[in-house]
Amino acid sequence: MIELNELLQQIWPLANSHVLAAEEVPIQQALGRVLAQAVHSTLNVPQHDNSSMDGYAVNTADFPSLKPFAVSQRIAAGHSPDALMPGTVARIFTGAPIPKGANAVIMQEEAELEDGGLVSFKSAPSAGQWVRYAGEDIAEGQVVLAAGEVITPFQIGLLASIGIPTVRVFRRLKVGVLVTGSELVNPGQPLQAGQIYNSNEFVWVSMLQEMNVDVHSLGIVQDRLQDTADALQKLSDCDLVISSGGVSEGEEDHIKPAVERVGQLRSWKVAAKPGKPMAFGHINRKDGGQCWFFGMPGNPVSSAVTFLLVVRPFLAQLMGQHPERADWRPKVQKRKVGFEWLKPDSRREEFVRVKESHVGGPLQLFPNQSSGVLTSMNWATGLARIPKGQVILEGEEVDYLDFRELTA
Ligand code: AMP
Ligand code: MG
Repeated sequence: MIELNELLQQIWPLANSHVLAAEEVPIQQALGRVLAQAVHSTLNVPQHDNSSMDGYAVNTADFPSLKPFAVSQRIAAGHSPDALMPGTVARIFTGAPIPKGANAVIMQEEAELEDGGLVSFKSAPSAGQWVRYAGEDIAEGQVVLAAGEVITPFQIGLLASIGIPTVRVFRRLKVGVLVTGSELVNPGQPLQAGQIYNSNEFVWVSMLQEMNVDVHSLGIVQDRLQDTADALQKLSDCDLVISSGGVSEGEEDHIKPAVERVGQLRSWKVAAKPGKPMAFGHINRKDGGQCWFFGMPGNPVSSAVTFLLVVRPFLAQLMGQHPERADWRPKVQKRKVGFEWLKPDSRREEFVRVKESHVGGPLQLFPNQSSGVLTSMNWATGLARIPKGQVILEGEEVDYLDFRELTA
């Protein structure tokens, strides 16, 4: 058996071992894509000192007393003002540039219009009030986004705010999915005796869609060696293929021999529960290239947990994301448990389904931790990582991994 940490150390670096092609896309189409190069700002945001209020631009040096002032110009947003005439004030509106010679804004609610077009103020201003300074949001030359970021709506807004219409992103990856099992039937079909509904494919395809990859699912493959090998071959033009089920040593388990027919395989018994049997390798392409392969257990919880802990971070790195961003291990948090764990597995660490009802509160344990119980994944907010052989008493701390961290 191999420890999970050891396995991750062996396989994750392989995802960074090649250079991924990049393409330029309009920012409107960049959502969820991975940035291929850092973006610097070529300008200050805001570009000019400007007013954050409707009011009057003034020079604080003109306020030894509160005498009425003449209004020497009117500056609306989009205007380019003249310098402020000494001893006067300028009418100004939100977003309009502060004129040279002014250093503060008095809001219009503090102003009173006098006869003869003069204006007086209730109190003296302090320097800088209601002024937004050039570059206070983004300074010219600043790195706005780093390579390897997954682009969010706010980041698209930032790019627009510095006038950038297109960005360089890594190409989208193509991921193949197949689920093995002669007992499987798709929803919409009636169930015959001995059959079960295929759910793994739907979980995976949804999680892959959330990662913004191009998903090619072959669906259900019967437990026959040649069918399995043919299915793998069909998906070999993908960047990565994942399969569920058939990865153990039983007579009906054909994944390992099938991969050996069409590519190369390394398989492990991982010292982690759920998710013990796992296969990893590649499928050969006709053009001499290779496609990565992960074979995961068929049990719905095992396959989902293995996907989240092992495959998703590998794929994220394959997509060009930063290894640190993809690694969930630094994201675990210490939490007290509201349950006891008295019969630990002596040989395998365990990832149990738990719920954190309120932030920082004690973790509750889902009563049925069987690897076939998908309701546990729906109920839970995350996984608690329990070291092998460790008894845990109520009130003691464990490492907690929130699902949001695993899917961020
Ligand atoms: P296997 O890993 O093929 O031995 O499958 C382990 C268990 O998971 C069996 O009970 C299967 O019926 C179940 N299983 C396999 N594939 C799926 C699937 N696609 N959806 C739901 N359950 C599955
Ligand atoms: Mg099976």
